[in-house]
Amino acid sequence: MSALSFTVQVALHTPSHSGVGDLLSYACERPLPPGTLVRVPLGSREVLGVVWEAAEGPGDGPADRALRPVAGVLDGLAPLDAGWRRLVGFAARYYQRALGEVALAALPPQLRDLRPEQLARRLRRPGPADGTAAETIKNIALSAEQESVRAQISAEKGPFLLFGSTGSGKTEVYLRCVQEVLEADPGDGLPAQALVMVPEINLTQQLEERFTSRFTGRFGAGAVVSLHSGMTHPQRLKSWLAAHSGQARIVLGTRMAVFASLPGLKMIVVDEEHDPSYKQQEGARYSARDLALWRGHAQGAKVLLGSATPSLESWHASRPATPEDPGGGRYVRLHMPSRIGAGELPKVRRVDMNQQPRRTVFSAPLLAAITERIARGEQCMVLLNRRGYAPVLHCADCEWKSDCPHCSAFQVFHKQDRTLRCHHCGYTVRVPWACPGCGSPDIAPIGRGTEQLEEQLGTLLAGVLRPDGQPVRIARIDADTTRLKGALESQLAQVHSGEVDVLVGTQMIAKGHDFRRITLVAAVQPDGALFSSDFRAPERLFALLMQAGGRAGRDAAYMAAQGSRCEMWVQSFHPKHAVFEALRQHDYPAFAAQQLQERKDAAMPPFAFQALVRADARTQEVAQAFLSAASAAAHAAGLPGLEWVTLYPAVPLAIQRVANVERAQMLLESPHRAVLQRFLAAWQPVLQATRSQPEHKGLVRWLVDVDPLTI
Ligand code: ADP
Ligand code: ZN
Ligand code: ZN
Repeated sequence: MSALSFTVQVALHTPSHSGVGDLLSYACERPLPPGTLVRVPLGSREVLGVVWEAAEGPGDGPADRALRPVAGVLDGLAPLDAGWRRLVGFAARYYQRALGEVALAALPPQLRDLRPEQLARRLRRPGPADGTAAETIKNIALSAEQESVRAQISAEKGPFLLFGSTGSGKTEVYLRCVQEVLEADPGDGLPAQALVMVPEINLTQQLEERFTSRFTGRFGAGAVVSLHSGMTHPQRLKSWLAAHSGQARIVLGTRMAVFASLPGLKMIVVDEEHDPSYKQQEGARYSARDLALWRGHAQGAKVLLGSATPSLESWHASRPATPEDPGGGRYVRLHMPSRIGAGELPKVRRVDMNQQPRRTVFSAPLLAAITERIARGEQCMVLLNRRGYAPVLHCADCEWKSDCPHCSAFQVFHKQDRTLRCHHCGYTVRVPWACPGCGSPDIAPIGRGTEQLEEQLGTLLAGVLRPDGQPVRIARIDADTTRLKGALESQLAQVHSGEVDVLVGTQMIAKGHDFRRITLVAAVQPDGALFSSDFRAPERLFALLMQAGGRAGRDAAYMAAQGSRCEMWVQSFHPKHAVFEALRQHDYPAFAAQQLQERKDAAMPPFAFQALVRADARTQEVAQAFLSAASAAAHAAGLPGLEWVTLYPAVPLAIQRVANVERAQMLLESPHRAVLQRFLAAWQPVLQATRSQPEHKGLVRWLVDVDPLTI
């Protein structure tokens, strides 16, 4: 008689799942506490799973003889704690994914492949040599602004939004707040831990150096670890284990780090909180920033968001109380307007492209300014933010643009079937032969590729010489030139060493990098983002331009020695647009106020909540028919919350066809987050049932994106 007298519920990643998954039951010899990692049979394979709280309902009776037994228990690891399990459970529910999928994706990949004996061997390996006797670096004196912010974070509960200019010393504030939290005795027997997130992998190294040098002396070698997808699987497992065991006190990472097991978590920092990279764009489409806020609240950890250009969501959530709005926002807004060490912010120069000859790409005044900088041995950065924006039709004669009559958005040019479509409401017209405004036949989509622009700049600057008599050197950095590992680093090194005079690139070059000799930054064609179909495009453009401008004149001493002022150039057909006006004044609050008013008038986020359902199919008709049928079924079933949820008609995605798959989407909107959640949960089984109907056989897949960042 075997002693398999206990049943456990296990969360695991079952391959075929597209809906909300449930827990699978297994038999075992002893009770296993929730959070225990186990290996269990699934079909003919053996997979990793996490013991979960028993699901509600029947089943917890005596062990069912038909149950397959647990194959192995990863005994060496402490169970994942309740805080972690609650986070995973919430993320799965909120983002409409299977629990097991989210749980397993949140664990380091190598854990999936290790047998219990292998793991035990791994855990026995000696940790990093302690007591490398790193000296304790003394803290620098905080500025008055930094000190007042630090004191407030220390005294209040938060969450906090730290609104600080580029170079205002935000990172220094993070360091001090983290230190304070880690040095305090949490009183629960666990060593206090902090999680610090950055949007991009190539920013983690810079940050790691700063944290390691500051904290190794205080908290020992191995106190700071990183977690991001650029690490090898063994490296990731090592960091993860260090965090899980409490040996690591600080975890630095990208969005995936929000799921790290941190039993002693007391503080979460989200740097550049506005960055779209915090949103995962496949699988469970979670926002690491939003999960950080949830996790901090649930686990009693302070949350500190930081940015020079906060997301409008966070800005709105941190609005001060007023007589009309006595509650104000939930977050505490903190402000650090002054730059430390770096020089002044760049002077913004706008070129009115209406005054330039037709089809000018680089205007004469901009070229003259670049030439002058090169001759003085200074560097320039030319920013092309064309990636990722859907084209809008535009008339060169009267400035007509393809806007939607029903929305505060532009209709998108679809080349394939020559239509203009609104991605919010679905309103569609055929592409006109002549401008509806003035009859001119000269209408075209706005936009051009980066490579072409680099070539053109090379031609225009041919013959320009550096102070050493050598011809000008131009380099381009974008997703295409940095595909190879290490390519970005070596290209950046060329810029830092002064080999490059003009750096041409996409938003990749605008973020974070500490270029010392760049004195001029130019945005050549920013207009596309002003008239994007995506209502968040102006917000992103503004953040990007502020970031890019922050790359100029970073070294006050160099600027003084050169005797020059740093400049940010913007070429635009709409130089008086609110985005550029606010940029000129370096005035984020004015920009945010204007944008929030527009959003409020149009009932868009943060004044409404959205979700997208996407369908991929062999044909556009099948994809749209599935969405329409699921929508009709929701209405027929009278699902809860429907009176507060608007389901818009299905529309094709801007990039409609990818790898021979047609893609369509449907936007859902509600003034209430909880109502939208309730509706989505009730809709899941309906979507699944719709999918299994024979007329939707051609459907490849469907998925839900809650709080989508791009529409
Ligand atoms: P941010 O994160 O806001 O861009 P940082 O924290 O990186 O700003 O600070 C910008 C620069 O100013 C860094 O070189 C940093 O070392 C320096 N710095 C920050 N705080 C102080 C301070 N209190 N005293 C002197 N230098 C400081
Ligand atoms: Zn016209
Ligand atoms: Zn519309």
